[in-house]
Amino acid sequence: MSQVVVLGATGSIGSQALDVISHLGWSVDGLAANRPSRRLAELARRYPDTEIVVAAGDDAEARDFASRVDNPVAFGPDAVAEMASRPGRIVVNGIVGAAGLRATLAALHAGNRVALANKESLVAGGPLVMGALAEAGELIPVDSEHSALHQCLEGEDRGAVSRLVLTASGGPFRGRSRQELVSVSVEEALAHPTWRMGGRITVDSATLMNKGLEVIEARWLFDLPPERLSILVHPESVVHSMVEYVDGSTVAQLGTPDMRGPISFALTWPGPRLPLELPRLDLAERGELHFEEPDPERFPAYTLCYEALRAGGTAPAVLSGADEAAVEAFLEGRASFPDIAASVAHALERHEVRKVGSVEEAIEASEEGKRLAAEYLAARARPS
Ligand code: MG
Repeated sequence: MSQVVVLGATGSIGSQALDVISHLGWSVDGLAANRPSRRLAELARRYPDTEIVVAAGDDAEARDFASRVDNPVAFGPDAVAEMASRPGRIVVNGIVGAAGLRATLAALHAGNRVALANKESLVAGGPLVMGALAEAGELIPVDSEHSALHQCLEGEDRGAVSRLVLTASGGPFRGRSRQELVSVSVEEALAHPTWRMGGRITVDSATLMNKGLEVIEARWLFDLPPERLSILVHPESVVHSMVEYVDGSTVAQLGTPDMRGPISFALTWPGPRLPLELPRLDLAERGELHFEEPDPERFPAYTLCYEALRAGGTAPAVLSGADEAAVEAFLEGRASFPDIAASVAHALERHEVRKVGSVEEAIEASEEGKRLAAEYLAARARPS
C-alpha cells in the first residue's frame, strides 16, 4: 500500500485524486490546501488522522481552523514543501500557480514520485525541475494530454519520435468571430464543452493559452524542440493526444474525458492498470470525431507560448504570471476576453529575458509577469 500526499486537496484535481486513492485502498498521508476553507475542514474530518497543511491565511484564520479540526495542522508555504519532501511518499501536486514549483522540487529532491498537475512547475521552472529530476525522484504527468503522450510513448524508442500532437477541445468559443470574442461573458467562458475543471484552467482552455502552456510542459517532459510539438483542435476531447513516429505511424490514446483515468495511471505506473468504473468509450455511438487547425488570429494566446519557449529563460514564467493576472481580471470583470492574450503579449514584449537559476528567480519572473499584465490593463482602462 502506497502513501500519498495530495497538494491542492480542495481543488478539482485534488478531489478526483482522493476518489482514485480510495478506490486503490491506499492511505492519504497528508492534505494541503491554500485556504482554511469549509471544504478543507470537511476533508480533515473525513481523514481524521491525516496531517493538514494550510498554505495561506492570517493568524486568526489559522487559530479558528485548528480549533475546528482534530488533525495535526501546520501553516505556511514552507509546511507544504515539508509535507512534499517526506521520503517514500507519492505527491499529487494539484496546486494552482507558481507556488506549486517549490513543492515539486522538494518532492523530487527527497526522491519521491510527483504526479504532476501543477502547470507552473514546468512552465515557470522547467530547467530547475529537469535538473532536480536528473538527480532524484520521478515525474509522471497527470494532465490528460501529457498522460496520453506518456502512454503512447511506452516501450518506444524516443529517437523514433518525429512529432507530438496535443489535442485541444477548442473551448466554448471555437466558432466565434473575432468581433464576437470582444464581448463574451465570464459565464460563457466557464461553460467548458467537455471537461469540468477549475476557473483559471477553464478560461485558459477558452483562450487556448492552456494548450500553449501544455506545449511548454511537453517540451520539458519529452525533451523535444517547439517545432516538433503541434496543436490540433478536436472538439470531442476523445483523442487525448498522439505521437507521430518516423515511419509515418501515429499512435493515439483515447478515452472519455475524465481526469480519474490519468490520475490513476500516474499513481500506479508502471504497475498494472487499475479497474475504474468510468464511462466506456463508444465510438459507434459517437459516430464522428472532428479535427481542425487552431486559429492564431482569433486565439493568439497559444502562439505566445511558442514565442516564450523560443525566447527561453524567464520568458515562460513571465507569460504564466501575466496570464494568471489577466485571467483573474477577466473573471472579476476588469478585462475583456481578448485583453487576456493582449496583456500577456505586452508582458513578453516588455520583459528582458534572464536565465532561471533558482525557484526565487522563477517566482520573481512570474510576479513580474503579473505586474506587467496589470500595467497593461490599467493603461487600457484609462479613458483616452
Ligand atoms: Mg490538459
